[in-house]
Amino acid sequence: MKFTVISRADDHSKETAQEVRFKMEKMGLLYEEEIPDFVITVGGDGTLLYAFHRFKSKLDKVAFVGIHTGHLGFYADWTVDEIDKLVNAIINDHLQVVEYPLLDVSVSYLDASREMKYVALNEATIKSSVGNTMVVDVEVQNTLFETFRGDGLCFSTPSGSTAYNKSLGGAILHPTISAMQMAEMASINNRVYRTIGSSLVIPKHQPCVLKPINKNEFNMTVDHLHVFHSGVRSVEFRVSEKTIRFARFRPHPFWKRVKESFITD
Ligand code: NAD
Repeated sequence: MKFTVISRADDHSKETAQEVRFKMEKMGLLYEEEIPDFVITVGGDGTLLYAFHRFKSKLDKVAFVGIHTGHLGFYADWTVDEIDKLVNAIINDHLQVVEYPLLDVSVSYLDASREMKYVALNEATIKSSVGNTMVVDVEVQNTLFETFRGDGLCFSTPSGSTAYNKSLGGAILHPTISAMQMAEMASINNRVYRTIGSSLVIPKHQPCVLKPINKNEFNMTVDHLHVFHSGVRSVEFRVSEKTIRFARFRPHPFWKRVKESFITD
């Protein structure tokens, strides 16, 4: 069994990461940075997002475990006190792997020879490049649904629905639902312009395509990453065929995590 540990840069996380590595190696587990079986992150949800993007080409091989050194995270939901339990569970093969849906994003350009592809764990957002109104045609399942005018649009995964999407008033989706959610950012609605005004939950195999009307430039985020795109013809969002695998060593139901994060522990 091979593992790697990815830590946030603060001292507490670095010391915890060293402790994890020491205890794992002591039990005969092999430290391997290229193709490990387990990626153990120490820090917060941001650390797990970073690790996800580092291992995004090996998602079928690795399982992630997040240890939090600050407040309880959505992905970083193991505590520092549980390191021994974690090591024992790996050694004794007492683990359960759960798979969560991801989001694929493809950017097509006016120059048809170019294309960019991304995969997101939380969400991808698209906003105008210079802070003016973003105007795009929104096609759902190959049919024009609306012309959106506003600050931008956010497409989230079910596990990302508790992140940026939630701040935008989107619904929280259980990660066993294979779907993506489109949430509006400050849409303009009056007698002339009209958008649906609520979030859409779109199932697998139904792509959503944005086509620019006023400008071909956008600022895009994919989780914690920021990218500027110019000369854009269209941007397609769809539920990915890939999934992220999380190793669970004790039950931690999603709704319990939602309650503990947003209401009370
Ligand atoms: P970060 O790591 O500091 O994360 C920001 C906050 O989002 C943290 O409190 C983190 O615990 C929480 N978070 C991350 N993923 C979550 C999830 N799936 N469910 C619930 N909470 C979650 O900042 P970063 O490194 O820039 O992380 C990028 C993430 O921050 C983005 O994926 C986006 O979801 C989030 N974000 C939120 C807002 C907003 O709510 N207004 C704005 C920008 C970015």
